Amino acid sequence: MTTLTFDSLNPATGEVVGRHPKHTAADVDKVVGRAEEAARWWAALSPAERRRRLLDYKAVLTRHMRELARLVHDETGKPVADATLEIVLTVTHLDWAARNAQKVLGRRRVNTGLVGLNLVGTLEYLPLGVVAVIGPWNYPVFTPMGSIAYALAAGNAVVFKPSELTPGVGVRLAELFAESVPEHPVFQCLTGLGETGAALVADPRVAKVAFTGSTATARRVMAACAENLTPVVAECGGKDAFIVDADADIAAAADACLWGALSNAGQTCVGVERVYVVDAVHDAFVRELSARAARVRAGEHYGPITMPGQVEVIRRHIDDAVATGKVVTGGPGAVRAPYVDPVIVEDVPEDSPAVREETFGPTITVRRTRDVQEALDLANASAYGLGGTIFSRNTRRAADLARRMRSGMTAINSIISFAAVPSLPFGGVGDSGFGRIHGGDGLREFARPKAVSRQR
Ligand code: NAD
Repeated sequence: MTTLTFDSLNPATGEVVGRHPKHTAADVDKVVGRAEEAARWWAALSPAERRRRLLDYKAVLTRHMRELARLVHDETGKPVADATLEIVLTVTHLDWAARNAQKVLGRRRVNTGLVGLNLVGTLEYLPLGVVAVIGPWNYPVFTPMGSIAYALAAGNAVVFKPSELTPGVGVRLAELFAESVPEHPVFQCLTGLGETGAALVADPRVAKVAFTGSTATARRVMAACAENLTPVVAECGGKDAFIVDADADIAAAADACLWGALSNAGQTCVGVERVYVVDAVHDAFVRELSARAARVRAGEHYGPITMPGQVEVIRRHIDDAVATGKVVTGGPGAVRAPYVDPVIVEDVPEDSPAVREETFGPTITVRRTRDVQEALDLANASAYGLGGTIFSRNTRRAADLARRMRSGMTAINSIISFAAVPSLPFGGVGDSGFGRIHGGDGLREFARPKAVSRQR
């Protein structure tokens, strides 16, 4: 294995948190070879035994919750409370995947629908083999485990390449798995920069790639995967819209909007970045939103921007919004690297980078619309389509708007439900990617349907 290393840093203090190997293509080759053997062993276990091991792993992660949350805090800078919530959500998903795998994937009889032929059909979902998981840094446990837990529960071995900004917690997740499954390396972690990930996804023995990260990297990953026809599930960026209807609960909407924009300092794929408010309630909503924004504090309610380069993207978007729109809260002075305070700007042109591109920071553009239809049209005019929100007291109208919103997920009168709920599929459309993690769809992403028909 390589002797080259790189350091992970605490973005708030600049201190070195850990030193990790920069795994090479030769290391990837060895690790995937071991994973192939482990995959055969893991797949041959009974579903009940896999479930028992995964529930044991859940108990191990729960016991190490403080340590893991601390590591996430050190590597990303996010408040310990947020990091803890991330681990809580992770074990919730692990529990769901372990308990539901057999129900979703197990063998069942299927009516063949053929008249006059006495055929018995059966369908089951078999493991794929080795699944490569490429993770981002913003939720370094929860996000990759949304693939890892479901891939393991479906009977696959996993090789995980965490982000170079958060390698330590990735290594620890795999080490802790070995406490529950010591026999074979069913879950391994490779650390390194993009090149390590590139070598992993290009390995022809990898049966599926679960990628979470930027849309630009997803394109490179897919190009590499095209060589071996390796299937990919791609969870990419977003530019979520937040629609406020004329009859919405304005105080609740303002609470949700600020939390949606500020959660994880805006470094959230489903972060609220564009707000469309119906004319009748626009002024009241903006007043409520800016009053709340004035009360939050860096270091207490939100952490630093984890990736130094991202501060420049956020600064560019703020400058663009301030130059073309009307500032409500914040402005260029909000950027105090590594912290960025909330920024709210009205009437930014829809074709400007601040409205079109993912900012990944706590900035919101707000636009007044004639009615909810115009709000929906503007919300849908984005290349991205991950999540989105509708605040309305009219249940029927909200359901109709949610269905017509061009996104993989829409929350009504809340913001956070979709990532938290293990039984609902998570994923997007357009530049936000394709395929689904979480839920039954997430389990089936990591399995292949096997159809058998028998003549009676
Ligand atoms: P990134 O694309 O820079 O990196 C993601 C991962 O890809 C890292 O582990 C990186 O080392 C690896 N990588 C880089 N080049 C590679 C290559 N050629 N082949 C294989 N792997 C390679 O993304 P990031 O900055 O870590 O994460 C932020 C992005 O992730 C944002 O766009 C955010 O919206 C998105 N995200 C999406 C979701 C979701 O579920 N949709 C969740 C979290 C984050």
